[in-house]
Amino acid sequence: MRKIVLHEKEMPRQWYNLAADLPTPPQPPLTPDGKPITPDMLAPVFPMNLIEQEVSTQRWIDIPEEVIEILSRWRPTPLRRATFLERHLKTPARIYYKDESVSPPGSHKPNTAVAQAWYNKQFGIKRLCTETGAGQWGSALAFACKLLGLECKVFMVRISFDQKPLRKIMMRIWGAECVASPSPETNAGRGILKEMPDTPGSLGIAISEAIEAAVSDRSGKTRYSLGSVLNHVLLHQTIIGLEAKKQLKMAGIKKPDVIIACAGGGSNFAGLSFPFVCDKIHGEDIAIIPVEPSACPTMTRGPFAYDHGDVACMTPLLAMYTLGHRFVPAPIHAGGLRYHGMAPLVSQAIVEGLLEPRSYDQVKCYEAAMLWASTEGPICAPETSHAIACVIDEAVRAREEGKEKVILFNYSGHGLMDLVGYDKFLSGQLTDYSLPEEALQESIAKIQHLPKVKKQKSGKW
Ligand SMILES: *Cc1c(COP(=O)(O)O)cnc(C)c1O
Repeated sequence: MRKIVLHEKEMPRQWYNLAADLPTPPQPPLTPDGKPITPDMLAPVFPMNLIEQEVSTQRWIDIPEEVIEILSRWRPTPLRRATFLERHLKTPARIYYKDESVSPPGSHKPNTAVAQAWYNKQFGIKRLCTETGAGQWGSALAFACKLLGLECKVFMVRISFDQKPLRKIMMRIWGAECVASPSPETNAGRGILKEMPDTPGSLGIAISEAIEAAVSDRSGKTRYSLGSVLNHVLLHQTIIGLEAKKQLKMAGIKKPDVIIACAGGGSNFAGLSFPFVCDKIHGEDIAIIPVEPSACPTMTRGPFAYDHGDVACMTPLLAMYTLGHRFVPAPIHAGGLRYHGMAPLVSQAIVEGLLEPRSYDQVKCYEAAMLWASTEGPICAPETSHAIACVIDEAVRAREEGKEKVILFNYSGHGLMDLVGYDKFLSGQLTDYSLPEEALQESIAKIQHLPKVKKQKSGKW
């Protein structure tokens, strides 16, 4: 079977929360002076129903009926088998992938955008503010807000705003207001514009602007929304892995041997893998691999430490693998993987030894994307190419070892709005960039003053 399609009625009715099963709980978020964050401190930024999810340790959380109804426009997504790539590689491995590119904005991101918009609306919120880099998250939230009747405001990093107009147009089609960041609309933006009028902007600046815009609305009807990293975002994405489990069963597969996904903030990786991490905790033998760019090697070279989620230090301190909140990654084309931190739940699973992170250079990733396009057909997102590069390595290894492994990966999105990177690759202008050790040390030195994290693990893996 090349595609395994679930009936709509078989769509999962609950999300899976890994916090219930991790042998050692993640360290709590802190204020800069080391005190635990309480839910009421987050109340100006997020609605209370999502804050409750953020701190929940309940294993299963019901998906509201109306969210299911909206998701069913494109879910369940197909589980496809990459037989043409298998044949090309002459591998005995079977390669399956969850096709999250079939959502209207073209990635996994609307899985949480729809849920977040719904919970905000439920709480009486009228308007959401957010930031976006290349525009994938901004377009997903714009889409969700349009369907649920909320206003949406997106602060888009200046350089992408100027150089990547396509997703900005998508946001406008879905009724969102999209402004270039830094903007003259916030104190944070005005301050930076005064200092550096020609700055290309950064995700950190855009986050600061979006949070400020949300908390400064006197009506109290505006909140902020984040597209990755936080526990409730990862929770909403677990529908991917829960569907995949049912689909593998339909294909007669008891368990996958290898699970692979790219990781920027960690949400598509967590979405596919967490239901299987649960199986691994309970004794299954599965290799679970998050893949990152070598230009932004958070999991493979960064320390596990308390750090802010943004440059302006507006977010609480999170216990995570990090390159330091002042880190500015090289302008590689996988924009969604250029984040300095990693989701606390993913980070704690790495500390436990449950995951095996890997990094890849961008040229190798584009080569993988080209092989994918010429065997399977679709043009993948630059982010997704990192997963594919790793899949190819694992399939070749299975051939060398003569093992009939089952490899499962997340096809997080299509690349039809991101063709410039392919253009550069095709014209030979793309080069590898691995983060120099001095730059890493310099960035990490800037978080030395923050409270120290306890690295706790059960020692079972
Ligand atoms: C945003 C994005 C990513 C990276 O974000 P995660 O939160 O790590 O999933 C990966 N792939 C695509 C297609 C994206 O749009």
